[in-house]
Amino acid sequence: MAFRIYNTMSRTKEELVPLDGKHVRMYTCGPTVYNYAHIGNFRAYMFEDLLRRYIKFCGFQVTQVQNLTDVDDKTIRASIEQGLPLKEYTQTYIDAFFTDLAKLNIEPAEHYPAATDYIPEMIALIEVLFEKGYAYQSDDGSVYYSIDQFSEYGKLARLDREGMQSGARVDQDEYDKDNAADFALWKAYVPEDGDVVWDSPWGRGRPGWHIECSAMSMKLLGDSFDIHTGGVDNIFPHHEDEIAQSEAATGKPYSKYWMHCGYLVVDGRKMSKSLGNFHTLREVLDMGYSGREVRYELLSGHYRQSLNFAFKSLDANRAALKRLDEFAANIKEAIGAETEPGELPAWAADTRAKFAAAMDDDMNISGAMAAIFDTVHAGNKAMAESAIPARQAMAVSTLWKELDTVLGILEAPKEEISVEVATLLEARTTARSEKDWPESDRIRDALANLGWTVKDTPDGPKLRKL
Ligand SMILES: [Zn+2]
Repeated sequence: MAFRIYNTMSRTKEELVPLDGKHVRMYTCGPTVYNYAHIGNFRAYMFEDLLRRYIKFCGFQVTQVQNLTDVDDKTIRASIEQGLPLKEYTQTYIDAFFTDLAKLNIEPAEHYPAATDYIPEMIALIEVLFEKGYAYQSDDGSVYYSIDQFSEYGKLARLDREGMQSGARVDQDEYDKDNAADFALWKAYVPEDGDVVWDSPWGRGRPGWHIECSAMSMKLLGDSFDIHTGGVDNIFPHHEDEIAQSEAATGKPYSKYWMHCGYLVVDGRKMSKSLGNFHTLREVLDMGYSGREVRYELLSGHYRQSLNFAFKSLDANRAALKRLDEFAANIKEAIGAETEPGELPAWAADTRAKFAAAMDDDMNISGAMAAIFDTVHAGNKAMAESAIPARQAMAVSTLWKELDTVLGILEAPKEEISVEVATLLEARTTARSEKDWPESDRIRDALANLGWTVKDTPDGPKLRKL
């Protein structure tokens, strides 16, 4: 079987065949670091995480680039409002972004270029566009891309070129299809930009958003690469403009495949600040949900469909994850001290093939999860009836680890024991050795308040999460 992915460019599923043998080069539009990322943003990063993990599962090597947009209309506006230098302002949100990725068990990309570190590459790219007749400087001093010059403009979003207003210009980073027009490559300095300014052959100013991704992707992945991803809202204008810039400059195809994930809605409605259903990941975690539960939720729907994020399904995930953990505990018990895997038991023999068949079909995650839960169900039943040989259990464990390289949710993360909890545990051991039972009980209650219970075993006291 081959891994087939839906290519937005062709509107069909195509087999993933890397340009360069066994190596997949992939570019992912990253966060605009002007605020904490919200769960809708993480839906896209989760889809990309599943994609890179499954590409590796298929035996390919991956080089993924995810950019950090640390200069654009939004970052500048927000940093000025806060009275902070742009770099200082965005650093807070860059740090938060990486913390959040780790909480969700999202694998790091190979490169995280920040736009402000690639200004010379952006200027060089605009110079090429000038030389080739695709760029012009307008009266306002800004440099624009002439969409009339690129005959394939609109091919990704399937725009009707007839309706486009020739010569109209748009200088905002974000605009809609009805306003397809010449877009800004380099924006002439305006006082609202504060001290965010660079010199260029066209005067002082700053890059437009779209040129950032063209410059960084081609610098790090080459003129042509395999997969470009983002959310459906990136198709126009962002990705359309990236194609226009890159293909006009190099004369080569830019990305071979384009993949886009659907929107995230919250409790059936579009997430918005005014509806009060706007959630950052931090807020959701502060409500007591774990990163693993949120990961499960964000993975659970097919990436191209819109995902309804509902708190009641987060609660249901807790039960599903518990079933996975019970299964893992049963397997662990059956393994005992065995280290060599044997044959898989009959109830697990087809799991990998079913999982891969579903994932090969444009990442049909529901089919893949069904394969997992069918095995959990059959396995728990079989193990309740009679013990399975240790080597068989070891084989299941090995399979589970392999499948979890894709899913990242089968294994419960090791609980982190805080310094406070560790100190209390030590004090309890001391109290018990001194037969100070009231003190030992007091510490037991304090640990319970922190969510831990202690069990005394022959190997000493063991902490368990309540
Ligand atoms: Zn981008």
